[in-house]
Amino acid sequence: MARRKNNSPQYQYDALVLGAGPAGEAAAMKLAKSGLNVGIVDQREQMGGNCAHVGTIPSKALRQTVFNIMRYQRDPLFQKIGEWKHVPLTQILGNARKVIEQQVDTHTRFYERNQIAVHHGQAVIDNPHLLTVKLREGGSTQLSFDKLVIATGSRPYQPKELDFSHPRVFDSDKILTLNYPIQKIIIYGAGVIGCEYASIFIGLGYKVELINTQSQLLNYLDDEIADALSYYLRELGVLIRHNEQIERLETFEDSVILYLQSGKKIKADAILWCNGRSGNTDQLNLAAMGLTANSRGQLTVNAQYQTDVEHVYAAGDVIGWPSLASAAYDQGRAAAAYMIGEDNVSPVVSVPTGIYTIPEISSIGKTEKELTDDKVPYEVGQAFFRHLARAQITGDTVGVLKILFHRETLEILGIHCFGNNAAEIVHIGQAVMLSPNNSLNYFTQTTFNYPTMAEAYRVAALNGMNRLF
Ligand SMILES: Cc1cc2nc3c(=O)[nH]c(=O)nc-3n(C[C@H](O)[C@H](O)[C@H](O)COP(=O)(O)OP(=O)(O)OC[C@H]3O[C@@H](n4cnc5c(N)ncnc54)[C@H](O)[C@@H]3O)c2cc1C
Repeated sequence: MARRKNNSPQYQYDALVLGAGPAGEAAAMKLAKSGLNVGIVDQREQMGGNCAHVGTIPSKALRQTVFNIMRYQRDPLFQKIGEWKHVPLTQILGNARKVIEQQVDTHTRFYERNQIAVHHGQAVIDNPHLLTVKLREGGSTQLSFDKLVIATGSRPYQPKELDFSHPRVFDSDKILTLNYPIQKIIIYGAGVIGCEYASIFIGLGYKVELINTQSQLLNYLDDEIADALSYYLRELGVLIRHNEQIERLETFEDSVILYLQSGKKIKADAILWCNGRSGNTDQLNLAAMGLTANSRGQLTVNAQYQTDVEHVYAAGDVIGWPSLASAAYDQGRAAAAYMIGEDNVSPVVSVPTGIYTIPEISSIGKTEKELTDDKVPYEVGQAFFRHLARAQITGDTVGVLKILFHRETLEILGIHCFGNNAAEIVHIGQAVMLSPNNSLNYFTQTTFNYPTMAEAYRVAALNGMNRLF
């Protein structure tokens, strides 16, 4: 526990962590388990970070509710079940609220069990070994530390031209408070969050216009998978507009009008702005320890997650790539391991993409385009979900698994999956691909349960083998 002293600072720590999201939590646990006296500061009233309160958890719980609704509606028995578009989002978020509570409970217990002192308030740095916490309940306290991990995450970028206090203008945090029914929404920004919310709103029966500032959706994905996403979003009713830029937004009591630089104008009940995120560093007073953030508020770290100040480490969204909870957790743990001088630590370099659109997307490794550009002699094995018994049973027949492999060595080079449960399915391929015995043969020589979605690997492997000569 923190050593209390009569003289200032009030608490002294061997290691202090800023931010109780996945990165901060993982770092704090690792440091505490190594025997250090650890404290954590978070400005929220509850643990879990933005991840549990406004990011991953609520959006995924909401998506699951919408997915269930869509599944019911597909079944003729339930087709008249509801007019979801007349129900405010805050009501549909009931399940998400339950999950958030459970997550907060779980994470709070981790800190208690590991005797990590928690300070709820905003951290402001005073000097390289001291900071002030402006406590939520009022007043402040000072904490000193030998080492520091900054894991303060990120928040939606808000351009100054938009008035986010207007009741019809939302970002991805504020959208969770949408408490009136709407029929049409504009989503500006077609990155992961924009595409995920497009699926959610179209699933609820709203009209959705998705404004993409680029020429293609999620252009880092394998081309066929990105095309499949565009196709199915359109099939569901999303109107996608590529290569557009905002000129201005007009807001009214009952609507918004978005003017685009191309001359188009779009009217809707509300707009959800999903264009970019900023690292949470502007309130930290980094200058007091000789640190500066880049123009996106992110910190630069070396391969050991160490900033330019030797005793200060950073992990999670605040360092930028890949801005995923999955990676944030591992980065936080790795940062702590480097900090305590552990051998055998690996930085996070290989992260699967998990995109919870409807249908879902997940991938790891190289895309066809990358392999072609690099002139790698690869082949493709495909399994379409519509041919798999398990998919026919569940009715989730939209989807494909693609395995890209070296045609001579059979080494797996990339796994790309589109369809329900893609984010789970990808892990089987990932495990083989990252193992020392990485070979397509694994899938032709191993017996999997049947009927399962894992069967897709066998089907795709055989399909790929058939192309070899
Ligand atoms: C809508 C949405 C959906 C997402 N879906 C997924 C997904 O499906 N899968 C996935 O892997 N990732 C997803 N992400 C990304 C994921 O949520 C983030 O990558 C993850 O939360 C980053 O974790 P973190 O530990 O870096 O910080 P965060 O979770 O952002 O937590 C940082 C904490 O630091 C606190 N803090 C900030 N400044 C201060 C300060 N000065 N003093 C004290 N405390 C401070 C904040 O209050 C916050 O609690 C999603 C994000 C969003 C927005």
